Amino acid sequence: MTSSLAKPQMVIYMRNGVEIWLDEEKAIMFGEDWAKETNKRIFIEGRFLNTVDIVGIFKPTDMEDLKKRKDGWFKCNKGFWHGKNEECRGHREPETDKYEKMQISEEQSLKNTESIKKLRQDFIVQNSLEELGWKK
Ligand SMILES: [Zn+2]
Repeated sequence: MTSSLAKPQMVIYMRNGVEIWLDEEKAIMFGEDWAKETNKRIFIEGRFLNTVDIVGIFKPTDMEDLKKRKDGWFKCNKGFWHGKNEECRGHREPETDKYEKMQISEEQSLKNTESIKKLRQDFIVQNSLEELGWKK
């Protein structure tokens, strides 16, 4: 159902907890009808609905949030979900930010590698000369 080819879905959520999933286009058309005429019975997706019993027409993500809240989860002010018995102890800066700050160009990276190689070589040469008693 959540394949990338699937049409975007929406959910008619009823007061009794029933969820009617349908294509977004259809949901919007239905929603427009619903907004125009209240207190009406509508036939949709093989069901007759009393439109006064509709809580709303939601996106799947809203339904996920709703389910989480029902299970006792809560969203903290940083926008993260926390479980029932969990408390928010703050959140670290996203790792990606740190990496972005550390990013250097490929050119610079090659230069750095070269200088390290050169330093190492000089060090080895220096040490060998000292070992041989040939100080520079
Ligand atoms: Zn938090």
